[in-house]
Amino acid sequence: MGERGIAALAHQEDCIGPSHSPWLRGGTVIFTDLDGSLLDERSHRYVAAIPALLDLKRAGVPVIPVTSKTAAEVRLLREALGLEGPYVVENGGAVILPQPDGTEQRQVFGRAAGEARRFLIRHREPFGLCGFGDMTAQEIATFTGLSREAAHRASLREYTEPFLMTSPARAHELDKLARQEGFRIERGGKLFHLSGQHDKGVAVRWLLADAATQSPTAVRSIGIGDAPNDLSFLAVVNEPITIPRPDGQHLRWPLDRPIWRAPHAGSRGWSAAIRRTLGIPSTEVLRREAASPVNRIA
Ligand SMILES: [Mg+2]
Repeated sequence: MGERGIAALAHQEDCIGPSHSPWLRGGTVIFTDLDGSLLDERSHRYVAAIPALLDLKRAGVPVIPVTSKTAAEVRLLREALGLEGPYVVENGGAVILPQPDGTEQRQVFGRAAGEARRFLIRHREPFGLCGFGDMTAQEIATFTGLSREAAHRASLREYTEPFLMTSPARAHELDKLARQEGFRIERGGKLFHLSGQHDKGVAVRWLLADAATQSPTAVRSIGIGDAPNDLSFLAVVNEPITIPRPDGQHLRWPLDRPIWRAPHAGSRGWSAAIRRTLGIPSTEVLRREAASPVNRIA
């Protein structure tokens, strides 16, 4: 999609001007998927990524979540992870830019979640669909492995409706109907997502254009993801990286451009990807070097 397409997707009333605060501190930026990439697939743990996150913070490299999660979910995670820059929610439904005064500005690309919900209800029976709106917080918790509170935050959709299908093979057929009404269907790790005509790539391209206005030199962009809904943003960064699924399978990379495949799943693979890409030695290497006789003070 070209810049014109992106501009057309941006909702006029939610477009933000150049008045928002700059968020780029150096010349490098990392865009990352969360579930299955920075966060471990089932446990949602990120302990293995903490040292790398601290190194990035010290180096002034923003880590920008690009996720299917809601703003309510990402706000809490950003705090826990110590992230400060913008974030992309609901598969590119909006870019949220926190401001120094505690407020947030938004660049919206999605359609109101109520519209997606109405489409899903109409096709619920013939396609065997079950959306987040059909589930209690407890049911979402059971399916996703989230706590009940986290499941509640996941249900606070603003631009998309995640759902399950009894016959995933019919997803293509449903996508055709969705497109006739200005929606689209994408597959995430475990769920399908019904949304407007945006994707993660639209939001990341907007952020890259915004970053270019803040940097006197070319911005180096790194992207990390694990699922098909990450392809759109991995395709627009300088250095795409895939994280394998827990069974070791990597996302199929359809482009004729090099991609680096991380050696481990989840946060461990994420950490390895950051260290390799930015040339930061792993903690194990540092420990070995510190123990080496050459490094001992006589
Ligand atoms: Mg993922």
